[in-house]
Amino acid sequence: MRLLLVEDDPSLSRSLKLELESAGFAVDCAMDGEVAEFLGSTESYDIVILDLGLPKMPGLEVLRRWRQAENHVPVIVLTARDAWHEKVDGFKVGADDYLGKPFHTEELLARVQALLKRFHGRMQPQLAGCGLTLDEDAQTVSVNGGRPEQLTAIEFRLLRYFMLHPGKVLTRTHLLEHIYQCDSDPASNVIEVYVNRLRRKLGNDLIATRRGQGYVFGEKA
Ligand code: CA
Repeated sequence: MRLLLVEDDPSLSRSLKLELESAGFAVDCAMDGEVAEFLGSTESYDIVILDLGLPKMPGLEVLRRWRQAENHVPVIVLTARDAWHEKVDGFKVGADDYLGKPFHTEELLARVQALLKRFHGRMQPQLAGCGLTLDEDAQTVSVNGGRPEQLTAIEFRLLRYFMLHPGKVLTRTHLLEHIYQCDSDPASNVIEVYVNRLRRKLGNDLIATRRGQGYVFGEKA
């Protein structure tokens, strides 16, 4: 999952980025409204955390522009603790959730995960499908109810993305975009390498290769 974090307080941005990365997100940071608006319009994000008080362009304007351009990425806005009008304004321009500052990182993470689940139409607390159960807190997977197996950070990101998009053809480029942040420069065959690792852990049948197109999760090869 690739996440855009829009927050102009450098120390808050740094600490949130680290926490979100260890929760398995590829995180791009924007420190002002103009950069945020640009990144959100040109890169593909799975979710956005958007502070409202920003230099250059207010968060509400950023969100309004995205929604006007039919960009429906799920957005959590960060508001001042008691500013109820900010929450109302946020929802009016198309925010999906809000969190008042200051907040506990655990609450932000829980809201991010809940919003992603809602967005993908899932009601169950764990991500499950095709005999796999993915524990997003522990970053483990169990196959057919067996013992949970630990995943590496990239294995976890990749498998979660596959499990949220079963039956869809996902190209290598698309997967790269949703698993790595802007400032990383992964090798071109990295997706292949990690798909093969997942196959070794989970069995060969779960991720099918579509020659010249990409991969499909949950469809027999
Ligand atoms: Ca701010």
